[in-house]
Amino acid sequence: MKKIKLLCFDLDDTLWLSRPVIEQAEQVFYNYLSDITPELTKRFSPESLRAHRAEYLSRHPELEHQISQWRTASLTEALALSGYQSQSANLARQAFEVFLEARQKITLFPHCEDVIGRLSENYILISLTNGNADLSRQAVGKYFSANYQAEHVKAAKPSPELFLKALEIADCQADEAIHIGDHVIDDVSGAKALGLLAIQACLKPDSPLPHALADDHFHDWRDLPDKIQRLTSR
Ligand SMILES: [Mg+2]
Repeated sequence: MKKIKLLCFDLDDTLWLSRPVIEQAEQVFYNYLSDITPELTKRFSPESLRAHRAEYLSRHPELEHQISQWRTASLTEALALSGYQSQSANLARQAFEVFLEARQKITLFPHCEDVIGRLSENYILISLTNGNADLSRQAVGKYFSANYQAEHVKAAKPSPELFLKALEIADCQADEAIHIGDHVIDDVSGAKALGLLAIQACLKPDSPLPHALADDHFHDWRDLPDKIQRLTSR
């Protein structure tokens, strides 16, 4: 086996717990809308605005992996339906910025930053997310050589595009890389299909059982360096 050069990391539910982040960002987003565009929040509750967003995607399936554009475009339509026709695109863009800012307020899992810092001394680190978290806005981002979102490559994991981007940037082969992520399909199956090794992050209280395809898994960030070491030297 070749030496491992690259570690790819998923973000949501791998570096931090995603649900409280999204819930908080949705709340900030809706509060902002109720201040700035009260006619919209009279017409749409948080739930019905979410339902409208889902329904918008069914009419625009091409936006499935363009989640920022999807949120902005569906809000533009909801604003127009609420009587803000002429300013709808501008208002939607501003509200999206508020959401995006709030969405970056993450709390790393215990010991994550220490471990990432140590791993960065020996490996190239690249983050690969289907979401719109921006690691370059986080202190831990300084340890990463690059950060890619599905929107950058117009395809989400488990499709190969994000993994291939990381291999290209790190200038290495699939068998010189380990992908670390929580999702059994997007992360584990996606990485394994391309020939990367995969370590499953089982850090959520309701994490699925480790997948048979995963080369290893971890429940505590402090255990990750040993798991990587074992795969590197086998
Ligand atoms: Mg994830």
